[in-house]
Amino acid sequence: MIWALSGASTIASQYMIGALRAQEGGTVRWVVSGSEDHARRYAQSHDIPHSGTDLAAALEDPAVEAVYISSTNEKHHAQAMAAIAAGKHVLCEKPLALSVAEAAEMIAAARAAGVTLGVNHHLRHAGSHRAIREAIASGRLGRILSLRVFHAVHLPEHLRGWRLDNPAAGGGVIPDITVHNADTVRFLLQEDPASVIAESAVSGMGQGVEDSAMSVWSMPSGAMVFSHESFTHPHTTSGLEVHGTEGSLIARDVMAQDPKGALELITAAGRSALPFDTTSLYETAVRRFEAAARDGREASASGTDGLKSLMIALAVRDAAQSGTRQSLDYGVAS
Ligand code: NDP
Repeated sequence: MIWALSGASTIASQYMIGALRAQEGGTVRWVVSGSEDHARRYAQSHDIPHSGTDLAAALEDPAVEAVYISSTNEKHHAQAMAAIAAGKHVLCEKPLALSVAEAAEMIAAARAAGVTLGVNHHLRHAGSHRAIREAIASGRLGRILSLRVFHAVHLPEHLRGWRLDNPAAGGGVIPDITVHNADTVRFLLQEDPASVIAESAVSGMGQGVEDSAMSVWSMPSGAMVFSHESFTHPHTTSGLEVHGTEGSLIARDVMAQDPKGALELITAAGRSALPFDTTSLYETAVRRFEAAARDGREASASGTDGLKSLMIALAVRDAAQSGTRQSLDYGVAS
């Protein structure tokens, strides 16, 4: 597929340009950035033939089939709406938008235009997460009692910009990481939280936005979910634990960008390692997105998935700021 990049970002540079090019016929034809100079240098260093500051110019290029949006969060909505209006498929970074109304508008526009809208929730494309989901769905863990997600990281120096000090750009750990945890929990348990309670904190990096959060989610099945995310933890690793009446699954180092980590299943029969596929998460995400776009199907991480993870993250932030339980109503997502 032939792509334009909207946003000359770190994630595109580190993972997504390679993932787009790894597909059959995968071509990155344009990069559009707010800065002419940055766009030109980025294009040169990544061997992208066209660059500029005018998204419309890239969208007018009939060769471009799809747009990958990885600008800062406040730009996702307008750039996606423009790409959809031009008839391009859109793979948008998370959070899909800053508000529920914006995200819902993007989904409606993509449906009306007959293009595929996806969100880059990479974790559901990890072999580890697919193996966990399969273990849960097949009943190996019995009835699920609880799921705990550990997603505290140490934000690398080169990313300590808008995430830490710019609420208008969608900064803060909740839009950044809670959305990923929300998508992961939804993907693994195949249900959506009914309500959340939460606390957030500024613990060393955030300036005007939270850099840490903990929340507890009530699931319709009765399962309890705990989600911990932070930018400020230098020495920990990520992971998740799922506990059921027949078994526990301990997943270490799996809230990650690379296909790594280890899964251990604990049942009455003892402890065993669970194998999983180690294909690149981002290559898998793009492969599935392109297949959906070609077939006119919903993406494997769809606009609706992006909307729901955003709704949950916003509910966590509201719960933390208000000190009250927030109920979730997914009516707008149906
Ligand atoms: P960056 O901070 O690297 O880039 C964001 C924007 O900042 C760029 O698009 C660019 O603006 C601008 N920028 C960056 N460097 C320069 C520069 N040297 N000169 C001028 N402008 C510059 O963002 P990330 O890559 O960390 O995140 C981008 C998006 O991707 C976010 O929405 C984030 O949430 C998401 N993300 C998703 C991940 C995932 O695994 N799914 C992982 C990491 C991020 P412009 O748009 O104008 O080019």
